[in-house]
Amino acid sequence: MPLPQDKQFALAVTVDFDAHAAWLAKGRNDPAILARGEFGAEVGVPRLLDIFDRYRIPTTWGIPGHSIMTWPDACKDVLARGHEVCAHGVYHENLTDMPEPIERKLMAHQIQQHLDVLGTRPRGYRAPSGSLSYNTFEILEEFGLDWHSSLSGRDFEPYHPGRSWRSTRTAPPSTGGSTGCWSSRPRGSWRTGWPSSTSAATPWACRPPTWCCGAGPTPSTTA
Ligand SMILES: [Zn+2]
Repeated sequence: MPLPQDKQFALAVTVDFDAHAAWLAKGRNDPAILARGEFGAEVGVPRLLDIFDRYRIPTTWGIPGHSIMTWPDACKDVLARGHEVCAHGVYHENLTDMPEPIERKLMAHQIQQHLDVLGTRPRGYRAPSGSLSYNTFEILEEFGLDWHSSLSGRDFEPYHPGRSWRSTRTAPPSTGGSTGCWSSRPRGSWRTGWPSSTSAATPWACRPPTWCCGAGPTPSTTA
């Protein structure tokens, strides 16, 4: 990643405004635990926004639909103060074993929540709890998301995750050979993207200078 001449590294700062959603998704709804979510929304968000203002740090916020609907003004303030908001689920749902039709419906619903309340369509996505299903990539493409920051296969470089893991998901990485879920991906798929049946021009492709699978589309600050 090119840096300004006098800078040596870039740091991306991102926030998840999960509030109550992260707890409710885990079945936790007692008053004490929900107070933690309330603290995030009522105290943490304005405090962070003031800090980012003070140091002029642009950031990317992952906000579930539940937080958007519950604290619309706080979410609007995030945008108004120059930050990006990406999709982060409806209720901070875990996608790991979610049936495809439900995952697709939730994606449509959260995008509509962004449009209805914030007036913006999210360009990016961060999977709640960092959990993806084997359908998530196709659904992100289908809904025109440009990037997601849900994987950690690189630190500074955007990349395309290999899709062929899907067919061998039960094989442990150490298995190796033709059934190993890691060895079965096409060579070079990290950089050139996809098996040849998938266009390199999918919305999934990085559109410089965005980051696909890093921590957001724009490095927030440099030092
Ligand atoms: Zn989260």
